[in-house]
Amino acid sequence: MTTEASTTRTIEIPRVLSVKELGDLMGVSPVEVIKELMKNGVMAAINQVIDFDTAAIVASDLGFEAVEAPATEQAAVAAEPASTRQVIEEDAAKLQPRSPVVTIMGHVDHGKTSLLDAIRETKVTAGEAGGITQHIGAYQVHVEDHEITFLDTPGHEAFTAMRARGAQVTDVAVLVVAADDGVMPQTREAIDHAKAAGVPIVVAMNKMDLETANPDRVKKELSDNGVVIEEWGGDTPLVPVSARTKEGLQELLENIIVVSDVLELKADPDRPAIGIVVEAALSKTRGPLATVLVKTGTLRVGDNVVVGETQGRVKAMQNESGKRIKSAGPSAPAEILGLQAVPRAGETLQVAPDEKTARATVIERIREREAAAMHQQQRVTLDTLYGEISAGKLRELNIILKTDVQGSIEPIRTSLERLSNEQVKVKIIHTGSGSITESDLMLAVASKGIIIAFNTGTEGGADRLAASEKVDVRHYSVIYNIVEDVDKALKGMLEPTFREVVTAHAEVRQVFKVSRRNSIAGAFVRDGTITRTDQARVLRNGAQVGAGRLASLKRFQEDVREVATNFECGLQVEGFDSFEPGDIVECFRIERET
Ligand code: GDP
Repeated sequence: MTTEASTTRTIEIPRVLSVKELGDLMGVSPVEVIKELMKNGVMAAINQVIDFDTAAIVASDLGFEAVEAPATEQAAVAAEPASTRQVIEEDAAKLQPRSPVVTIMGHVDHGKTSLLDAIRETKVTAGEAGGITQHIGAYQVHVEDHEITFLDTPGHEAFTAMRARGAQVTDVAVLVVAADDGVMPQTREAIDHAKAAGVPIVVAMNKMDLETANPDRVKKELSDNGVVIEEWGGDTPLVPVSARTKEGLQELLENIIVVSDVLELKADPDRPAIGIVVEAALSKTRGPLATVLVKTGTLRVGDNVVVGETQGRVKAMQNESGKRIKSAGPSAPAEILGLQAVPRAGETLQVAPDEKTARATVIERIREREAAAMHQQQRVTLDTLYGEISAGKLRELNIILKTDVQGSIEPIRTSLERLSNEQVKVKIIHTGSGSITESDLMLAVASKGIIIAFNTGTEGGADRLAASEKVDVRHYSVIYNIVEDVDKALKGMLEPTFREVVTAHAEVRQVFKVSRRNSIAGAFVRDGTITRTDQARVLRNGAQVGAGRLASLKRFQEDVREVATNFECGLQVEGFDSFEPGDIVECFRIERET
């Protein structure tokens, strides 16, 4: 039961804690905490972990002022960003230029793998005498006095899946377009995915050795799809290449350098490393292996590390030439040995001061994940859109639009974009005809967008992902309805509304004092049914004298869930104890209007 906190007490709450721990901190029962959480729309079990923001709301509801507890030594590592979605705090004075990380994207069979192989062959093995090229998930090439790191898994699917996990490793996207085939559906997807991530594009117009190559057509189709090349006054370089004859490769690399120079990529090589897993596997002979791309800092053999939800000590590292290395600095890939379990691609690696801290951090991470899972419903949805806009949290509504036929895209796009207002911009980040794919869903997660489907369905597998990732997917068969719904959502008219439903009236007949500050009303239910979870107003001669949730509901000393019309009961109202015979207790509950 709530204790009347007349003076506000301040409590220190850690970044994440369990429901029970929060109750202990405030000296209230976990049930009380669970009730407060429910009031705020969060369903939580006693051992469930909640984050500081949620805990602070509950604390304040219960009369406490919450301040964030200073990070203890144990949590020192966890205080680092758990994902690169958050900005890594760096000491500006120590920053040094770092080399770019590149992902190759494009339509199937346009030559992504051939291009990666061609670059590797001409550049990697040449520099490493006696080295045998290993596939570790990424490799670095030297171009004059620069280096470039290529991710070895081509395609926008892997790129966006990583983003959806909060890891953006790619600095520059190389868009491969076969000169004999032009812009194809996956080329378009790749363009949209790169743009949604804000990653600059360098076009590699491949297969220039073919007679059928048609560069002008490629350039025009690119421009039709929003990629305007430098030659045409835009800012995207286009380099004609052939993965087969190796023509143009050097120029392609030089253009990547130029584009990345503009980005002024920097990192601090002297700090403990933070990296992203780009590939991981279990080796029968060597145990878990993970290729990590160092984002900042330097990773060294002997470092205690936390990777995703596992930990370990770096026993050995090797580079893409199979050479043992002792350290890996910013933008360098390294295959590491010594983790306790196989991490997932996209997970973050952080160096910990010692093993104990590493272990504590893993526990913290697991708890954070559980806490974050509770917030999943906070993904952008049309229902909650207005609230986010009003709170100033959302300035753009990202929409992925899938339609049955190509012809429907433009009219819908134009009508939706027209709905943009001063507060929020409606942005169609990707369109396509056909069913909703996993790649569309990942893009929605990564870009915090919603999916609008017009006369089209969802591909097998994608609907499961939609449910588990809680992406708002809306199906329509009338264009007008799409526009109307989005318009209403923007104006807050789609916001769910709540109404009060009166459940019962009870008349107080007797008052029993149970302690100095607590009394129970013996009442008779005149109409309706009182439920234990109801809220109540106490009315005296028609005027309200008190209100609160029911604190107890009893029949003959027994706690009960309900009491129906014409029955006697004992009840207490939270925060109110001055009942008088003749008072009317009006019970009600709040329901969401559908
Ligand atoms: P991906 O699906 O984009 O990875 O494409 P691949 O690299 O597997 O290449 C698809 C096909 O195109 C293969 O048969 C390659 O040999 C061929 N190919 C790739 N690059 C070139 C090129 O520059 N010229 C020619 N003529 N064929 C190429």
